[in-house]
Amino acid sequence: MELTKLKGLGEKSRDLLNNLNIFSVEDLLMYYPYGYNVYNISDINKANENEQIIIVGKVDSTPIARRFKRNFNSLSFRVFTSNKLINVVIFNRAFMKNNITPGSDITLIGKYNSLKNTFTASNILLSKIEEGSIESKYHLTSGISNKQISKYVDSALKENIALTDYIPEEYNDRYNFINKREAVYYIHKPSNIDEIKKAKLKLIYEELFTFMFKINYLKYVKSKEEGKEPKKDKKEEVDKFIDSLPFSLTTDQIKTVEDIHTDLISDKRMNRLVCGDVGSGKTIVGVIASYECFLSGYQSALMAPTEILATQHYLNIKNLLKDTNMNVELLLGSTKKKDKEEIYRKLENGEIDLIIGTHALISEKVTFKNLGLVITDEQHRFGVNQRNSLRNKGNIPDILYMSATPIPRTYALTIYGDMDISLIKTKPAGRKEINTIIKSDKEIKDVLSLMLEEIKKGHQVYVVSPLIEESEEENTLTTVNELKEKLDIAFNKKVKVEILHGKLSKEDKEKVMDDFKEGKTKVLVSTTVIEVGVDVKNATMMVIFNAERFGLATLHQLRGRIGRNSLESTCILVGKNDNERLKVLEESNDGFYITEKDFEMRREGDLFGTRQSGDMSFKIADIKRDFKVLLKTKEDSEEFLLKNIKNGFKNEEKYYKIIDEMKRLD
Ligand code: ADP
Ligand code: MG
Repeated sequence: MELTKLKGLGEKSRDLLNNLNIFSVEDLLMYYPYGYNVYNISDINKANENEQIIIVGKVDSTPIARRFKRNFNSLSFRVFTSNKLINVVIFNRAFMKNNITPGSDITLIGKYNSLKNTFTASNILLSKIEEGSIESKYHLTSGISNKQISKYVDSALKENIALTDYIPEEYNDRYNFINKREAVYYIHKPSNIDEIKKAKLKLIYEELFTFMFKINYLKYVKSKEEGKEPKKDKKEEVDKFIDSLPFSLTTDQIKTVEDIHTDLISDKRMNRLVCGDVGSGKTIVGVIASYECFLSGYQSALMAPTEILATQHYLNIKNLLKDTNMNVELLLGSTKKKDKEEIYRKLENGEIDLIIGTHALISEKVTFKNLGLVITDEQHRFGVNQRNSLRNKGNIPDILYMSATPIPRTYALTIYGDMDISLIKTKPAGRKEINTIIKSDKEIKDVLSLMLEEIKKGHQVYVVSPLIEESEEENTLTTVNELKEKLDIAFNKKVKVEILHGKLSKEDKEKVMDDFKEGKTKVLVSTTVIEVGVDVKNATMMVIFNAERFGLATLHQLRGRIGRNSLESTCILVGKNDNERLKVLEESNDGFYITEKDFEMRREGDLFGTRQSGDMSFKIADIKRDFKVLLKTKEDSEEFLLKNIKNGFKNEEKYYKIIDEMKRLD
């Protein structure tokens, strides 16, 4: 159902909701709150001064309005609460005067001064709220308030829209789950904590069941797959190539190369995830694999998530392969039409041995002569069915994923349960540890002079902030635009500062990146666009603002952009310096340790705040907190799959659809 069909929801609000990835009324209903405010009512006699409290009472006198200056007014009246008559004052609500009538119920939020027997209210509700009443909190975007979202959700709930329950009947019965409609209602409009609990049990299980079902399905399909041609064993020539590299491989790189070699020459399709910290050297491992395929007469494709990354890979890899006969090309969405056609032709007739690109590679028009290997870099795994189809004339290609998210092994075995995993833990020799320091907002002058020192040495600096634009609730945070302004002022415009964020056009992004790579720009201010893979060796400092807003794993990945050569590198985290989480980053440079800590340290309250952390973005589930449920759904969905796969899920309409969807995408 279209959003604008809802009462009071116009085109402007629709566009704002679109920014939150809400495109239909169904999406809105699935836009679960990230947390709740529980209102506890205080007794005025027990209130501490200067403590914000909520009281309820009855209005005892007609309000008197006063006007100061032009835009300033107050209302004063008496309220009877907790057996006591008190004075109430509230500013700039003169418009409410006629609605506040003696004898009526009222709720007040504010502070009580017992000496003056006066309650200074910051907010008024013209009714009596119940003790323990609950308000849902939603993630917001600039221009839309929590109240508005809550109101739209209210109207959406009234529409009685049919919502699919993805939990098969059998498991609903087994665990006594409430029904989907109830769960969605309770999650948005709970009247007590118990309702939230019941709703969460249901919705978390549902989300994880569907997720694990897909993983199990992939695993099943893969185990049944037949018809892969084993690659020829070219170990000797590959070793020669490895020896010719300008560096020697680390132990884990060697181990990974061996794993891949074994997969390639087997008749079972490779499905391998190479998991290694930023800078651990995953690319070369992929390059070696594609070289072995080339020697066996196969083409390879390497897919990267952004044009910047794909281009960078292309330049690096072309250089690494310059002494071989491999023909390497780059294909982007923005590649000129004429050049594209040429590349399509060469892929089809086998003239290209390794094609590097973005999602442009999975365009209808791309056909390979004999694709033997697909490498996906920095694949963020939450859309299991976002897997990529590459049209191939030959046989089944081997698949290699490369990810910089160092997930602890136990979790990896579950969520990557359909793949084999190689870990690269050792770092290339000669790497300097990144020196990390935490600074508070008040120490910004220090930060600026540290930056200036670094720039004077001829080095470059990354500045990162999570926000592009200000959102109303978060006006204490610093946006990239503000940061650029501040830096321009601080450096007197003598240092070239540029901005990079996701909303820039492709051309602008490239221009900004090129200027930074070439060293023309000294300071690059960005959102997390640069999170993955960008490699500028001369950048030796990174300053991250609002650092506590990021997950530790994300921060660690971010700072991996520096420390790319033997120069000293510094990462400055601007945030609260008593922040326990951030201290982990001061202590350690080991991605696996950090992710483990991150998992450990997140508290209930942080759990929904994971939208910045990229990889595992579930709507409501959290693989750490809900790990037991995850294991349960792994078992259950496997059992369900095996029971139903023979008859093609004929009696399980919704799962039939899920599989159909996955087939189309695969
Ligand atoms: P990531 O794992 O983050 O993708 P890259 O593959 O981009 O890391 O490697 C980072 C840098 O380290 C590259 O410049 C690469 O050439 C270099 N590198 C990779 N392996 C080694 C090694 N064994 N010794 C020295 N440098 C290496
Ligand atoms: Mg990489």
